[in-house]
Amino acid sequence: MNTVESNWKAIKRNIGRACEASGRDPGEVTCIAVTKYVSPERAIEAVNAGITNLGENRVEGALEKYEAVSGRADIHFIGTLQSKKAKKIIGKCAYIHSLDRWSLAEEINKRSEETVTECFVQVNVSGEESKAGLSPEKVEPFIESLMKLPRLRIVGLMTLAPFEEDAERTRPVFRQMNELRGHIQEKSWAHAPCSYLSMGMSNDYMVAVEEGATHIRLGTSLVGE
Ligand SMILES: *Cc1c(COP(=O)(O)O)cnc(C)c1O
Repeated sequence: MNTVESNWKAIKRNIGRACEASGRDPGEVTCIAVTKYVSPERAIEAVNAGITNLGENRVEGALEKYEAVSGRADIHFIGTLQSKKAKKIIGKCAYIHSLDRWSLAEEINKRSEETVTECFVQVNVSGEESKAGLSPEKVEPFIESLMKLPRLRIVGLMTLAPFEEDAERTRPVFRQMNELRGHIQEKSWAHAPCSYLSMGMSNDYMVAVEEGATHIRLGTSLVGE
């Protein structure tokens, strides 16, 4: 297995290329190391390589990595979240990327007593049944309704593109996400700055960066499986 450091070097070069091709500043792109397949030791190796954002898709894994990195990295919750488990991660996960329903929003609001929880709204652009997330036309009314919940802040939108051998084919999905973010930003809602786009995984992150991703989520290519 490659070291995280050597994988990270190659990925940074690729991010640089994608930014150059699209006239973006690499400083706008945050890489989240998705550590769901790997040990706490490997997560610490990523932190030692300079990666300060880790992604986990299960509550148990998120708490385990939270303990392991002891404040040296932010934990991003990127998986489906059962409402009853939300309280376990509030205050420990810096961001929740998978907000996709009112009942979960209410629960996060209720459990965020002293804090404001930063959330991404998950969007299912392709309409694949296997994927979580709101259909694009439901995103704006959903975010508007969240105005009533003072302990939530909607910092961006998140999506998982369908897997394609040829990553180029995912480009329309990412482009649509960028347009959708634009519509939300035009509303200038105080509770929803919606400046971020969490999109792009190991197979398609370069295309995602070209189309405006601010947060890419890399598991296999960065820390391994
Ligand atoms: C596992 C996972 C990733 C990382 O996938 P790789 O293809 O291994 O980079 C990104 N986002 C989510 C939501 C995931 O569950």
